[in-house]
Amino acid sequence: MKILPLKEKKWRKYPPVLLLICALILMFSSGCVTAFQDENYVPVPPEAKKAGIKFSEGKREIALNGNTVYLSYPCRDGKIHRIDLPFLKNPELNGVSRRRVSPGNGLILIDPGHGGKENGARGRNSLEKDLNLAVALELARALRKEKYQVALTRDGDKTLSLSERSAMARKMNAALFISLHHNASANSSSSGIEAYSVTPAGAGSTNSPDEIDSKTYPGNRFDLAGKRLAVLCMRELIAAGIGPDRGVRQARFAVLKNAPCPAVLLELGFVTSPAEEKLLADPSRRRRVVSAIVKAIKKY
Ligand SMILES: [Zn+2]
Repeated sequence: MKILPLKEKKWRKYPPVLLLICALILMFSSGCVTAFQDENYVPVPPEAKKAGIKFSEGKREIALNGNTVYLSYPCRDGKIHRIDLPFLKNPELNGVSRRRVSPGNGLILIDPGHGGKENGARGRNSLEKDLNLAVALELARALRKEKYQVALTRDGDKTLSLSERSAMARKMNAALFISLHHNASANSSSSGIEAYSVTPAGAGSTNSPDEIDSKTYPGNRFDLAGKRLAVLCMRELIAAGIGPDRGVRQARFAVLKNAPCPAVLLELGFVTSPAEEKLLADPSRRRRVVSAIVKAIKKY
């Protein structure tokens, strides 16, 4: 005789399901699984969705019009950090506080990195300081042709400290500061271009995300305007076939954080990559780089 009460039969029928429910209840109550909670994280704004930005869970990099841009904090549980909100609410950064730059209005200070005693990165056949200067001189010529007012922190092989460069920008009342560099890596296959603007207060920089600094530097007055130019430069460079795209990044480089105006620092390729070093010596690549930066400044 096997007459069991109905209730007991049902319990026997679903033991795996019941076990799983019990395990989950235990895990939640013991704190093994907790819902993601951080009051600094907010939903992705509709403007970012409208702009078609692609986010990746747990990552800082987003794709904006197909180009890589690094946020201050990783996307978590489909949400973004408050510090990234001003940018994501206005991904094209239209109308952000910036000094006016147009032909005959506002000085563009071009800063070829390193120089004199400081070689910067060293390739097999070239020194970074010389590559930086070659691009800077050509960029100055191209901008003057378009009637922009331009000055250079150095127009020859001269040693110049970082504070001297920022002091020049202040003294000249520069409207835009563009620092030109070339990159180095212990890995000879690293290649590509990067554009930096100043890291916002309260965030870590792209290359050292855990070093969070809450201090506001002079350059932070224009961090969004600098980001606007960095995004535009990268977009035009990639469109001109210069790459690979290593992203619009953030850093507290001295020339960015102490700039009295919107500022960007461009890393225009790796001298330590033998293949890329060859490209860097090619005047036609340099012309394409310069014309892309001019296009970006015109759109800025
Ligand atoms: Zn450099």
